[in-house]
Amino acid sequence: MPTRPLLAILATLAALGQAPASESVSSATIEVILIEGTNMAASLSPDGQTLAIDLIGRIWTLPADGGQATALTDPFGDTRAPHWSPDGRRIAFQAYWAGDYDIWVIDRDGSNLEQLTSGPFDDREPHWSPDGSRVAFSSDRGGTYDIWEVTVESGATRAMTDGADNEYNPAYGPDGRRIAFVTDGPDGGIWIQRGSANPSRIVDLAGGQGYAPAWSPDGGSVSYVRIANGVSELSVIVSDGVDGVGSRVSSNNEDVFPFRASWTSDGRLVYTADGRIRSRPSGGGRSSDIEFTASVTLERPTYRKALRSFDPDGPHPVRGIVSPALSPSGDAVIFIALGDLWSMKIGSAPVALTDDPFVELDPMWSPDGLWIAYASDREGGIDIYVRDVATGAERKLTTDGGTNPAWSPDGSEIAYTGGEGQDRALRVVTVTTGTVRTVRTGLNNPGRPTWSPDGRSIAVSALWTYSSRFREGVNRPLLLPVDQAVSQEDALPVAALTEGNGWAGDIGLQPETALQANEHWLDFAPHGSLASRGTDGPVWSPNGRMMTYVASGVLWVVQVSPGGDPLGPPSRLNNEQSSDPTWAGDSGSILYLTTNRLRRVWLENGRIEDVPLPMTWSRVVPSERYVIHAGELFDGVSSRLRRNVDIVIDGHRIVRVTDHAAELHEGRVVDASDGVVSPGLVEMHMHGGLGSGEQAGRQWLSYGVTTVRTPAADPYEMVEVRESNAVGRRIHPRMFGTGNTIDGSRVYYAGAPALSASGQVELGIQHAEDLAFDVLKTYVRLSDAIQRRVIEDAHELGIPVTSHELYPGVAYGADGVEHVRGTSRRGYSTKVSALNRSYQDVVELLARSGMTLTPTVGIYGGYALLGEEDPTLFDDPRIQVFMPGGAERARRGGSPDTRRRMVEDMASLGRRVIEQGGTVVLGTDSPILPPGLSLIAEMQTLVEYGRIPAIDVMRATTSIPAKAMGYGDEFGSIRAGMLADLIVLGANPLSDIRAIRDVRMVIKDGRVYTLDQLLERPMR
Ligand SMILES: [Zn+2]
Ligand SMILES: [Zn+2]
Repeated sequence: MPTRPLLAILATLAALGQAPASESVSSATIEVILIEGTNMAASLSPDGQTLAIDLIGRIWTLPADGGQATALTDPFGDTRAPHWSPDGRRIAFQAYWAGDYDIWVIDRDGSNLEQLTSGPFDDREPHWSPDGSRVAFSSDRGGTYDIWEVTVESGATRAMTDGADNEYNPAYGPDGRRIAFVTDGPDGGIWIQRGSANPSRIVDLAGGQGYAPAWSPDGGSVSYVRIANGVSELSVIVSDGVDGVGSRVSSNNEDVFPFRASWTSDGRLVYTADGRIRSRPSGGGRSSDIEFTASVTLERPTYRKALRSFDPDGPHPVRGIVSPALSPSGDAVIFIALGDLWSMKIGSAPVALTDDPFVELDPMWSPDGLWIAYASDREGGIDIYVRDVATGAERKLTTDGGTNPAWSPDGSEIAYTGGEGQDRALRVVTVTTGTVRTVRTGLNNPGRPTWSPDGRSIAVSALWTYSSRFREGVNRPLLLPVDQAVSQEDALPVAALTEGNGWAGDIGLQPETALQANEHWLDFAPHGSLASRGTDGPVWSPNGRMMTYVASGVLWVVQVSPGGDPLGPPSRLNNEQSSDPTWAGDSGSILYLTTNRLRRVWLENGRIEDVPLPMTWSRVVPSERYVIHAGELFDGVSSRLRRNVDIVIDGHRIVRVTDHAAELHEGRVVDASDGVVSPGLVEMHMHGGLGSGEQAGRQWLSYGVTTVRTPAADPYEMVEVRESNAVGRRIHPRMFGTGNTIDGSRVYYAGAPALSASGQVELGIQHAEDLAFDVLKTYVRLSDAIQRRVIEDAHELGIPVTSHELYPGVAYGADGVEHVRGTSRRGYSTKVSALNRSYQDVVELLARSGMTLTPTVGIYGGYALLGEEDPTLFDDPRIQVFMPGGAERARRGGSPDTRRRMVEDMASLGRRVIEQGGTVVLGTDSPILPPGLSLIAEMQTLVEYGRIPAIDVMRATTSIPAKAMGYGDEFGSIRAGMLADLIVLGANPLSDIRAIRDVRMVIKDGRVYTLDQLLERPMR
């Protein structure tokens, strides 16, 4: 891999574009001065002279009375939680340089950087012992978070607690014999442990979340932070009480950050709140702020985006090949492409087995090759059908949902995943009778099942987590007995919206329930991870002696016992990005999908052959010429509506926009004389593959959404949606997207492969190029240095990169940031506090860099609040048709005033970024919230609670996202030459944003759909 240094031009923005023509990427350097820090921690040196802070994930020092901060650590360590050694010479902190958190120390002058702990676990929140010989920290080494300590001299570590709950945020007492820490769980509180005695709980957090105990110099008191119900307080309590409630030190409505305060010798507390470093008497009273400045530089790139064409062209080879499966005889392949199920005799042309506008997915042969099982939504929900290969006769096998069918070895049963959302149950259906039994619930989106040779067990790829404190883990093969009754855990955790005051900050299930009897993890590679929990294996060979799977991006095989346990180390079968392995019936070869083709590997000699798939697609566009007469026109940019306009459409493009002229009304005229025509809406953050079914496309369009962008998806499904839409097989908004997220060594979502080899990044970039991804998403466990490499490599290909993280991505060219909050590896956001407030650092970095912010306020309480305060949102025929009973979310806890304040605070970030000249685009994380509905709700939320002018919100859903993606000359505004993506509204959304609900007609690629047409299920 050649290195590709960015050409840094140390000059002003005016230098942009003056890079030598041979460089495809150039950059301008911007200096930004930070004077506030969102969720920054501070530690005061023992002599009271110097502060250490962790602003934007770097350790800085500054004089204790304020001034200019000096960075001690580089931008790539996500260095946090500084604490001074008792002699004041060194600072301990947690750092992510190694791709997980370890404890590091550095001298106060920035020299002698040293790593104290290492390994695949996360070590956090260091605190020096009073004698300076040890550092306590929290770690997930033991299956939950416990308090550990490391001896500085030797590096030896030992556990200090071993509770079943998570223990974290340690602080040694001044005598060195006591240690304070926090626990979560039902007994959550602030605890003190004396030597080996049982710990006692000094603070009952009463359902709130506690953080960061800090001892007074005399050991008589402990300060801590408690966050609950939109309130964050710093309190002090005596250290020898039981289950008390501290007295509050901070003031009303103060946004105290959840980090350890420092006590001064004169009884003051130095802590962080409201974006500031603050000092206040520990008994309460007037505070004073310690001002600081910190300078950071941003290298912002200019590069040519790789754009796709939307004109009729082709033929192109089909790339959206989904779930290919090799026949037992080894001479045929079934797969999904262009919206249908196909069968192909190897060496011949594929033959379509279905011909309908519905979604097909997950085809699989029976072991005798006489049957195919696959899933389809042709009768509404997605269910499993079986097809007689010889006659083509079909039968619906499940009725309450089913995907991922896998035949038992004797062909009598099919294991599958059923049920909606992330809480998919693993079920078995008897093929002859249709009788269904549930094998397992409570797994978070397990992969496609595979049967043991004796038919008595099933292996699936499942999420193994390191602790219940953070949701990430690795994908590991889990062996489940088929005939064990499922435990009575019917009340499973439901995907719930996270409260705005929590740390977790994203949507997630509770961690995996404990293993049930006779279940066990198959250890192919400790801490290693299978690729996605989908169709990447494990897949048992038909002879039962091997399993194949994808890990580190490539294909592996391992010899296994009849019980599935590995009999030796796995062997690598190839060196290319792989997915979807399936076996030939003789167990001698494996078919797999690599970035842009099908291949087959023979185990005997390692030979790899292409399996040609002679199939192409060509873009189909309408040819009609017609006129839309608009009573009023919002062109996507101008704040003034134009009246009485004729928009001439020819085929899929707008060819003329002009004042009404009678002679233009000669052919077909679409009369929108009492309406307002606007560009179609752009949804920048949704997730949707084939699992969303045929309905999703019509639902999006019915809300006026003509373009969507998915920042994480199954790559082949994303391409299938693009291609099936281009050929007119299914109605859908124009799809921009990517494949799976590029994440680090731990993952959460089923589609995300964990990073376990450095070469994997190159494979991922190649994958992006071959499938023409429109964007790449780096995710939250990826180290910052690798993120930088991904950004540089992606930009070389013209592909933008977005992520959840702001810094240092913003300093190295990341194009976008998703969510005001968003999940993070830290457990707290550095873009927004627990009270939903963002400070100057965030606003300044976003505004000065110009990177896009997709706020998604809806998933952080905005949607629920709006639905509660304006239920007319749901008075709508689209709700009855698309979301019967499912549109309204349960109300959240807490007072309405608090919830409103928190939504207002979060939504206001978008306003401040826009006011400072930054770029806001809109997205919703649908289908967590309903497609389409959630986007118009987000628009109203930002206007009503964020006080963003309606014109800015309309631009942020039309011209601005189009321009940000590089397609400002294709869609998002209305003028001659643009693609004909238009909506006709009943009223003017600039004067009342709720008019965006009133969609009368949608035109996408020149095709006109009335709302009634979009509400209608297509005929088979
Ligand atoms: Zn006209
Ligand atoms: Zn998302």
